[in-house]
Amino acid sequence: MMLFCACANRFGAPPNTLVCPVCLGLPGALPVLNRHAVTLALRAALATGCAVQPASVFERKNYFYPDLPKGYQISQYERPLATGGAVQVAAAGGEERAIRLARIHMEEDAGKLLHEGFPWSREKSGVDLNRAGVPLIEIVTEPDLRGPEEAHAYLTALRAILLFAEVSDCNMEEGSLRCDANVSVRPRGAQALGTRTEIKNLNSFRHVARAIEHEIARQVAVVESGGAVVQETLLWNPDRGETVPMRSKEEAHDYRYFPEPDLPPLEVSAEWVDEARRSLPELPAERRRRFVAEYALPGYDASVLTQERDLADYFEAAARASGNAKASSNWVMTEILRKLKEDERPLAASPVSPAALAGLVRLVDSGTISGKIAKDVFERMWATGEDAGAIVEREGLTQLSDETALEAVVAEVVAGSPEQAASYRGGKAAALGWFVGQVMKRTQGRANPRRVNELLRKALGGGV
Ligand SMILES: [Zn+2]
Repeated sequence: MMLFCACANRFGAPPNTLVCPVCLGLPGALPVLNRHAVTLALRAALATGCAVQPASVFERKNYFYPDLPKGYQISQYERPLATGGAVQVAAAGGEERAIRLARIHMEEDAGKLLHEGFPWSREKSGVDLNRAGVPLIEIVTEPDLRGPEEAHAYLTALRAILLFAEVSDCNMEEGSLRCDANVSVRPRGAQALGTRTEIKNLNSFRHVARAIEHEIARQVAVVESGGAVVQETLLWNPDRGETVPMRSKEEAHDYRYFPEPDLPPLEVSAEWVDEARRSLPELPAERRRRFVAEYALPGYDASVLTQERDLADYFEAAARASGNAKASSNWVMTEILRKLKEDERPLAASPVSPAALAGLVRLVDSGTISGKIAKDVFERMWATGEDAGAIVEREGLTQLSDETALEAVVAEVVAGSPEQAASYRGGKAAALGWFVGQVMKRTQGRANPRRVNELLRKALGGGV
């Protein structure tokens, strides 16, 4: 639903099919605040450690634009919903750094201009007001971020929090998560920040990092050549890799903010805050720490696995079922994520369930199949959705555990290559690897490499 009306909020619907007098801004239509939207904003505020204000005020932000039929946007200005708070960002060396938040406020989205895709697009633009009134929160940081990498890390951490708290699907392509970046530079050692510019139109984390990097370099060049940075709003052009001026920066007083006369102050009771707090799940930072403590995972694994809630759930289910957390983490971080990316499908549509993955891990741990065979089995599990056990049994992939058979193969290989055997015995250690390769080839990779090594050393005698 919308922030002030009951229209559906659905991305991709035909233009202007999800509208009513309120979001169209027709005269006399009155806004009614959507309680659920406030609850979601509270979840975001609590998940980032903000202080929820008992009363906040919606105000009219006045400006003219064709996608804004009312001539103003209802937003919060002097008295936002929440203030303070911080997002913990993983810094180099596994350290964590707190990026402070200034505030979180609620506002409604504007419509969208359509410049292409219609027969008349060469002559004119259209306007789609389906999006007008979509509930938004704006999360504003203090000037704590020190460069493109840190900005990227902050956005990644913030996205994980919003996903875990189920505040937003964070789909950047559909505009569910957007980012404006303010950039300023100062001479090394100086306290005061220089004049800032704001970059808009950043629709991926990669673009954010690139745009900031470009803008820092541009500002440094301006300052070093004796010029002054002008406060302005810039657009990022990803194709040309540069920022282009959009408009000179407007000051807050240009918007003539004043309290929305059709809405009373938003009062949030302590009970409402408690209810929102209780509904929050374990958040990414807590879960990351728990994964390190409970499963002895390296910090890197824990942070990758806690980017998304379903990924963390998947790993945890596989780790519990297999009894081998590190191996489960390795499979999830490499094979599962790789296959999902290749197939462009979400984790929910994975043909390999956590229980099935755990089955595969157990087959390796028990020595039933080799690690190399496991990779092939995984590919087949992914293609067919079958269990590892069924595939291994049908295809006869179990590791050669028959010692006599393996000893015979080893003896055969050694007898068949007297020159290699002599060079090994003469001190050429690398020859052993060649023998291992031969044995693995003859056994179609089903021999246990460690055992093959032992048997070969015994059969060859001498050497190194
Ligand atoms: Zn509406």
